[in-house]
Amino acid sequence: MIEILEAADLPRARAAGALVAHILQTLKSRTAVGTNLLEIDQWAKAMILEAGGKSSYVDYAPAFGRGPFGHYICTSVNDAVLHGLPHDYALVDGDLLSLDLAVSQQGLVADSAISFIVGEAQPAESLALIDVTERALRAGIAAACPGARVGDLSHAIGTVLTEAGYSVNTEFGGHGVGTTMHQDPHIANIGRPGRGFTLRPGLLLALEPWIMADTDKLITDKDGWTLRSATGCRTAHSEHTIAITESGAEILTAPR
Ligand code: MG
Repeated sequence: MIEILEAADLPRARAAGALVAHILQTLKSRTAVGTNLLEIDQWAKAMILEAGGKSSYVDYAPAFGRGPFGHYICTSVNDAVLHGLPHDYALVDGDLLSLDLAVSQQGLVADSAISFIVGEAQPAESLALIDVTERALRAGIAAACPGARVGDLSHAIGTVLTEAGYSVNTEFGGHGVGTTMHQDPHIANIGRPGRGFTLRPGLLLALEPWIMADTDKLITDKDGWTLRSATGCRTAHSEHTIAITESGAEILTAPR
């Protein structure tokens, strides 16, 4: 299913995006050496509920996961890259943490992910991973406008990732967003320009480049959710929800 919003719906989408951006930035500012992933989950829960939002994750039970997710945010540390299940772990200096959050506000979902280093240590390889996913995300957004094809976005994202020397996994990528978290079209993180669905005003898309330092293979943690790099290498993930408008793309989850 692909949903196209009316122009009158855009303020609600902006509200959802602003809430997700605010929560992620607040969580980033509170997170320090010693912060437990379960604390981050509880902080996210409190902020979502206080704002009258609805978690897109708590009851989420897709075929690739084990039962309902049961938590409010994905916390992926170091070799964990996607769907990181919050668990009893206290962050240490130099950990690479990815937070992925999707919330419904007034009936519309916004979805965003940030990656950052915890504490004082700033490992160069980890910073490079984060930088390339952020650059790929910007390239994908820059390619998004009415008339562009989904393949144009995939190509823009994939070009940044591959030119930086990373191989791209195509099992998970970006997606349409609307009244539910995951909709068509799927937006792979690599692809051919000129192919796929033609973007039009009113379409909401979540673009989410993610990368693993030395592999494109994933393994599933014994928790049934967390996806880790097959080699144990570090990983990074960056995501924004954008709205296609008459004049281009508006980033709904941009930090303010
Ligand atoms: Mg997400």
